[in-house]
Amino acid sequence: MAILEEPIKEVSLIKNYINGEWVESKGEIKDVVNPATGKVIARVPISTNDEIEAAVEAAKTAFPDWRRTTPLARSRCLFRLKELLEENFEEVSRIQTQEHGKTIDESRGETRRGIENVEVACGIATLMQGYFSEDIASGIDEYLIPTPLGVFGIIGPFNFPFMIPLWSAPYAVATGNCVIIKPSSEDPLSQRRLAELVDEAGFPPGVWNVVNGGRTVVSGMLEHPGIVGITFVGSTPTAKYIYKMCGETGKRVIAQCGAKNFMLIMPDCNVAGTIPALMTSFFGNTGQRCLSGAVLVIVGEDDGFYNSFMDAVVDTTSKIIIGNGLDESVQMGPLRDKGKKERVLGYIESGIQQGAKLRLDGRGEVKIVGDYPQTCFIGPTIFENVTPDMKIGRDEIFGPVMSVMRAKNLDEAIDMAHSSPFANGHAIFTSSGKTAREFQYRIVSGNVGINVGIVAPMAFFPFSGMRDSFFGVLHTQGREAVRFFTESKVVIQRWL
Ligand code: NAD
Repeated sequence: MAILEEPIKEVSLIKNYINGEWVESKGEIKDVVNPATGKVIARVPISTNDEIEAAVEAAKTAFPDWRRTTPLARSRCLFRLKELLEENFEEVSRIQTQEHGKTIDESRGETRRGIENVEVACGIATLMQGYFSEDIASGIDEYLIPTPLGVFGIIGPFNFPFMIPLWSAPYAVATGNCVIIKPSSEDPLSQRRLAELVDEAGFPPGVWNVVNGGRTVVSGMLEHPGIVGITFVGSTPTAKYIYKMCGETGKRVIAQCGAKNFMLIMPDCNVAGTIPALMTSFFGNTGQRCLSGAVLVIVGEDDGFYNSFMDAVVDTTSKIIIGNGLDESVQMGPLRDKGKKERVLGYIESGIQQGAKLRLDGRGEVKIVGDYPQTCFIGPTIFENVTPDMKIGRDEIFGPVMSVMRAKNLDEAIDMAHSSPFANGHAIFTSSGKTAREFQYRIVSGNVGINVGIVAPMAFFPFSGMRDSFFGVLHTQGREAVRFFTESKVVIQRWL
């Protein structure tokens, strides 16, 4: 099939968006590479402390007037942004495929999920209402007003470069705060396009800022006293550092992080409906999702069921079409970069060394549609006879690797899932309501799937997480985000 037209045609130096202006950074410059083609598509700066300072100053200056802008007027900017995102939907999606490598359908799904957060935040006039009690004593009333706090930092990961900052930013600005977004330096182009649309939507200068860079920019934001809170989405080690630093510097924080999701297969599951769901769960986004399936646990002692189910899984997996995500026939793109591929290959090696059975081997020359360098491509991989103590059964691999375990019964399967320090998106596949209820009740997991392989909450539900998958109290998205970006001011009024 023909390759869709690439929206990024020329290599440009990405500028920061500060105070409504596009400003060239004085920082060191890195290349942004399309992992499918191996071509440099942009250059991104590692911004300096002065540039973080300028963004915080702009946001602090914009805050008083933005806060006084009525919620309805603020939501009108978001309505305009939503319309602009719809008009530019395909371009924004193709940019994600070019910068990240995911398939165009995955990018379109990501764009849609991002827009949905803008849509939910458009309802801010009712979402941020307070409450009122008349006559707490004779002639005295008490009421609560949710108030914005100031400037928030929003730090995104590489795996959903467009959508994840939108789990936070629309709610932050809708509630009257100003934001500084730090996209992943690996794929910052869709955030640049988003900021261009924010500019066109008419947000006042300083309300929405973008400062590019990596860990040094994050450290600068964490240390800056002008930033009152941080939302972070990324790996667990970075999340722990962010959480600790926010504690030390007195910032409120949401830190959503790593995962190792267990998919439990009961012998009574609907096999025809389950296999496609597993394909998307384990191999969609090339396994680079915090909600990807990582461990498949087949429950029960029926070898006949195990063998036929695994034969179907291996057969379907081996037919996955790999290539450039801008080819609409492609079902799996490359990993984001060479380093990530080497990391996944290291895990495959460790699985072999630790005695797991390599049933489908994604190493070596990958069969790709079209003529592309092998650099970031890897085939889907399946291991059987995995145990929870093996590295491939325990660590977050973040690649298209399925580790298969067997459990005698539901109790043992739940114990296996609980042996992981992560608890982000475990799921069960069963046609028994009783088993599903039991699993839902007992499983420790922020997001729980019942016959659903990727438990991605809608924008009007929180994006939850437990144990080593989340640090904080409130989550991004919906009402919890509104709560996070506001403080409760309680007023007692005596009518003298
Ligand atoms: P990462 O931790 O490497 O980077 C995340 C962000 O932090 C980036 O902007 C990066 O520039 C910055 N960063 C990286 N190292 C840093 C350091 N030492 N100090 C300060 N900042 C640093 O994560 P990633 O590889 O971009 O993303 C993948 C991870 O994100 C996976 O673990 C995945 O499970 C997780 N994730 C979690 C969720 C969720 O909601 N739970 C969603 C998506 C991704």
